[in-house]
Amino acid sequence: MIKYNLKCKNQHEFESWFSDSKEFEKLNSRKMIECIFCRNRNIKKSIMSPRVVNKEQEKINKKSTKYIKKIRKDLLKMRKFVEKNFEYVGDHFPREVRKVYYDKRKNRNIYGNATPEETEDLKEEGIEVTTIPWSDKKEN
Ligand SMILES: [Zn+2]
Repeated sequence: MIKYNLKCKNQHEFESWFSDSKEFEKLNSRKMIECIFCRNRNIKKSIMSPRVVNKEQEKINKKSTKYIKKIRKDLLKMRKFVEKNFEYVGDHFPREVRKVYYDKRKNRNIYGNATPEETEDLKEEGIEVTTIPWSDKKEN
């Protein structure tokens, strides 16, 4: 099987499979291939330029890698801020956060772990909880 990128007279591009190149030539000379968009039967093989596509892709990849690195850096900064200013309560987070919420005298900044279910429960009780994507310090 061979896949061709095809183009009709109206510049629609689409892909189609053939058993081999001969099959394509045969069908096309008999006008048996039609555009999937406009049913035009004036079909040509579209010239592919993978090098250009790859270069574009490379650019996009580089950009997103840069972007991801920046986000990771920001997350790390946020993590440091939280660690410095918040008290870590670990898995007791749902219990501790309720203490803070219901006992108005206590005004603590805490952070810790909660399962998605626990987070849902807290939200239902009207307790605002923010989930932070925790960046691993070891990574750079
Ligand atoms: Zn077409």
